[in-house]
Amino acid sequence: MEDLLISRLAERLGSLAVFPGDAGYDQRRQVWNASIDRFPAVIVRAGDHDDIRHAVTTAAACGLKVCIKGGGHNIAGSAVADGALMIDMSDLKDIEIDAEHLIARVGGGATWAEFDAAAQAHGLAAPGGVVSSTGVAGLTLGGGFGWLARLHGLAIDNLLSAEIVLADGTVAVCSQDEHPDLFWALRGGSGNFGIVTEFTFRLHPVGPQVLFGPTFFALKDAREVLTAYAEHAPLLPRKACVWANLMTAPPVPVLPKSVHGTKILTLMQFHAGTVGEAQADLRSLYAGSEPLGSALTPRPYTEAQGFLDAAYDFGARNYWRAHNHHTLSPPLIDLLVDLAHGLPSPESELLICLLGGAVADVSDDATAFPHRQIPFMTTPGVRWHNKQDDARMIGWLKHVSEQIAVHAVPGSYVNFIAETEGNAPRAYGGNLARLAAIKRKYDPANLFRFNQNIAPDALSTG
Ligand SMILES: Cc1cc2nc3c(=O)[nH]c(=O)nc-3n(C[C@H](O)[C@H](O)[C@H](O)COP(=O)(O)OP(=O)(O)OC[C@H]3O[C@@H](n4cnc5c(N)ncnc54)[C@H](O)[C@@H]3O)c2cc1C
Repeated sequence: MEDLLISRLAERLGSLAVFPGDAGYDQRRQVWNASIDRFPAVIVRAGDHDDIRHAVTTAAACGLKVCIKGGGHNIAGSAVADGALMIDMSDLKDIEIDAEHLIARVGGGATWAEFDAAAQAHGLAAPGGVVSSTGVAGLTLGGGFGWLARLHGLAIDNLLSAEIVLADGTVAVCSQDEHPDLFWALRGGSGNFGIVTEFTFRLHPVGPQVLFGPTFFALKDAREVLTAYAEHAPLLPRKACVWANLMTAPPVPVLPKSVHGTKILTLMQFHAGTVGEAQADLRSLYAGSEPLGSALTPRPYTEAQGFLDAAYDFGARNYWRAHNHHTLSPPLIDLLVDLAHGLPSPESELLICLLGGAVADVSDDATAFPHRQIPFMTTPGVRWHNKQDDARMIGWLKHVSEQIAVHAVPGSYVNFIAETEGNAPRAYGGNLARLAAIKRKYDPANLFRFNQNIAPDALSTG
């Protein structure tokens, strides 16, 4: 980097700036997906919204683009960009729970683990994702769904307001009443519109105990179980949510040793009712097949939320695709089961997420999230550790994704797309033109471009 630029940044940002070579630079630029290895010009350790305003105006003055790191989980690594001014939100973690009014205020750098723990201290929760190390910010701005989505909607459906630093350095609070256009865009439009410093969520009584855990089936039974899942899962009561995963059997005590390392089908089950209700509701999914083992049991909600964290820890290389489906048709089920035989690494998977319920109560254009009527999303994912396997793993996944796409309807969830170029139509669907108009209003120079980008001039007639 030019010395002049460094000295200008250093002068303006003072102790907030972390430059290449400084202590903490490498740790702060690191993101969840180890395939991503990018070098921002400077990282700003933001402590509050004044720091962020200062960082944004500095970036504009120095001709740098801005990237924002929340929980760092984005599969495309959009939190970090070469040569950009990166704002690290990890110090903005204040969480305030107003149990009386069922409201939470959550800092823009908090993780779901932190938010869940604070809310559960009062027996409350807001719908988040299924891995609790994920950032509240990125997950929410893309839509956000997990075990509670069928009962209480997407993360954005529980967002009451957001405080945001805009591209011109001003701070706005947006809600249904203030800047409603921006509030609409934030709910599914990803990080395109500014830097959210605080989210205000509606809370719900949840738990503290829920029924949660995996039930494992042999791959030979997978067709039958997935056929029952395809039929019955969308009809489950809203307090139940089940995702299916074709994967490699983990070495867990509930599975016989002989099964460890073989390909299996897992139903990951969540139920917010009683044990009796759960047994009655979930049995229809098993199709009379005898499970290989099960760890479905009452657990604290926070334990359920963190159950998958270790399996999806930081440090591995990852590549995903995501497809929308109205149904899991028999040919798609056949394809997925056949593909499972060839999973190219022990941590790779063919995941099926279930939505519906409260998610589908809202229309596709009520918020920027356009996938409301999609009950199933398939997310084939490869996960590996050595760079020399990149081409093989990504090649396998792309090939598999092309085959699954034949059975899919258009669209992909913005938070599950592994590349950042050219995906806006898929991610935002029929809401793209309206999003582009709002982008032109709030970020005409596209300062915030490291995301599934909505180019301000992309749809100038939109
Ligand atoms: C293991 C794993 C499990 C997941 N499970 C789920 C799931 O169950 N449900 C689900 O819906 N999604 C899930 N996701 C996807 C997840 O929603 C996205 O990866 C999301 O982008 C992560 O947000 P983050 O803040 O951690 O990521 P980051 O990489 O930090 O940020 C993601 C994007 O949001 C922007 N951003 C971050 N913070 C802010 C902010 N404060 N203001 C404005 N923009 C900001 C960034 O610039 C970036 O473009 C999962 C991801 C992983 C890796």
